[in-house]
Amino acid sequence: MRRLCIILGDQLNLDSAIFNDFDRQQDLLWMAEVHVESTHVWSHKQRIALFLSAMRHFAAEVTLRAYPLHYLKLEQHHFPSLAQALGDCLQAMKPKEVRMVHPGDYRVWADITATCKSYGIELNLLHDNHFLSTPVDFQAWASERKQLRMEFWYRELRKKHHILMVDDKKPCGSQWNYDHDNRKSFPKSGPSALPPLLTLQNDQITEEVIHLVQNRFPSHSGSMSDFNWAVTPSQAQQVLAHFLKHALPQFGTYQDAMWQDQPFLNHSLLASSLNLKLLSPLDVIKQAEACYLQNLAPLAAVEGFIRQILGWREYVRGLYWLRMPQWTQWNALDAQHDLPAFYWTGDTDMNCLRQSIGQTLQHGYAHHIQRLMVTGLFAQLYGVQPMQVHAWYLAVYVDAVDWVTLPNTLGMSQYADGGLMASKPYIASGKYIQKMSNYCQHCRFNPEKATGADACPFTTLFWNFLDRHEMQFATHPRMGFMVSNLRRLSTEQLMAIRLQAEGLTF
Ligand SMILES: Cc1cc2nc3c(=O)[nH]c(=O)nc-3n(C[C@H](O)[C@H](O)[C@H](O)COP(=O)(O)OP(=O)(O)OC[C@H]3O[C@@H](n4cnc5c(N)ncnc54)[C@H](O)[C@@H]3O)c2cc1C
Ligand code: SF4
Repeated sequence: MRRLCIILGDQLNLDSAIFNDFDRQQDLLWMAEVHVESTHVWSHKQRIALFLSAMRHFAAEVTLRAYPLHYLKLEQHHFPSLAQALGDCLQAMKPKEVRMVHPGDYRVWADITATCKSYGIELNLLHDNHFLSTPVDFQAWASERKQLRMEFWYRELRKKHHILMVDDKKPCGSQWNYDHDNRKSFPKSGPSALPPLLTLQNDQITEEVIHLVQNRFPSHSGSMSDFNWAVTPSQAQQVLAHFLKHALPQFGTYQDAMWQDQPFLNHSLLASSLNLKLLSPLDVIKQAEACYLQNLAPLAAVEGFIRQILGWREYVRGLYWLRMPQWTQWNALDAQHDLPAFYWTGDTDMNCLRQSIGQTLQHGYAHHIQRLMVTGLFAQLYGVQPMQVHAWYLAVYVDAVDWVTLPNTLGMSQYADGGLMASKPYIASGKYIQKMSNYCQHCRFNPEKATGADACPFTTLFWNFLDRHEMQFATHPRMGFMVSNLRRLSTEQLMAIRLQAEGLTF
């Protein structure tokens, strides 16, 4: 054999570089389902099912295209890890070379590199052509800057790929960013005319996988009853078309809003399809851009959506590879609490958390503001160890893959990197959640109150966070006003907040 070509569970693009120069006579594709990928973090049942079903559909497709493929199904072998499964195969097949598109997970990259080395076989890593930039591009950009803000990286990529541009320099609408138009909360009456939910049909492969997961991983978190995730490129295109038609025009305006018992609102539900590479980000961006050019959606909505994919998504990937493996060691706020047990059950009186965690367990999904300003905010204010927070996000979301989960969690959400990613910690009191949702109306706590029996734990912990980190942020240009507000509290108020915060144990 000339080459063994590994395809990982999140590399399911049929135009992957792994097919370049592939010789059906001398080369072999290799895919493996392994137990540890579902247990190294305690994965949600829907996340496991999504990966397995999408992998099996991909395997069926490449086989149809007459590619030779060696596929190890979970129930057909006993190798506990990818490295052991690969090692066994290398020993038996003795390829001259192993090829693989660069993995999205440092741990997997390290394991496969070490395995090939131990068998004395060369590992050839290919660029991932799914993305619109490379880690090397990002490194070059980063090396010329003191601060690595997403906005400027995003503008580079807008120019480079000519997205929403009038000419080489001028953005459509003469403005790069419509963020200020995109922060509205719903009126008191709530969201009107929400997009209908698209229901996908599970075929036999998906049904078998659902059955397998229920039998093999019964103690894992999450419900399986509402599995409705795209597992093939054509299903992913269906989800995209549905989003562009029904949700994109309102996407920007209510991007940060939340509402009781409404898990999806105007969000696209595309992250899992993008991260498994069932969809090309450039194709998604171009289709969204076409909606603006054809007057089907306003510029603010289209720009807001494109910024998430061309801006944030490419940026977090760049940051991940720029600073791995150091990321995992950082804990700039010295957060030492354990993750509260209710993150795995949703069993808490705090309605915003009950809602956000409840829908996460039900669907493997929460939208960005629920992740950042409810579950992430609480963990940060309470002071949970960042890697425990990361392990939770990596486990419970269907779209979770290390390169994207880790910077979002440790950087944007927990400020564990001390400001590499976010210019300040994303902190707020319960009043922010009150403003952006109607959760507080269904809660026994009062977001205005920091002390007393009905004090909102977010509000108590917000002041307590500032109190604990006062010295760290007193001179911070964007945190100074919060510290000044803290200093306006009387000694009695401060003592009462400290006492209340000490009483909060989860
Ligand atoms: C603590 C935390 C953890 C997160 N973990 C993940 C994760 O594991 N996987 C993941 O894909 N996203 C993650 N995100 C980013 C974001 O929350 C999700 O991409 C989004 O909620 C997915 O839902 P959607 O597809 O409906 O997105 P939409 O709201 O419709 O956004 C459109 C697309 O933009 C991209 N996007 C938006 N925000 C980001 C971002 N901050 N980083 C990267 N891409 C972005 C996604 O591909 C998404 O599908 C995380 C955010 C936070 C704060
Ligand atoms: S009152 Fe506090 S705990 Fe209750 S929903 Fe509002 S922010 Fe959440």
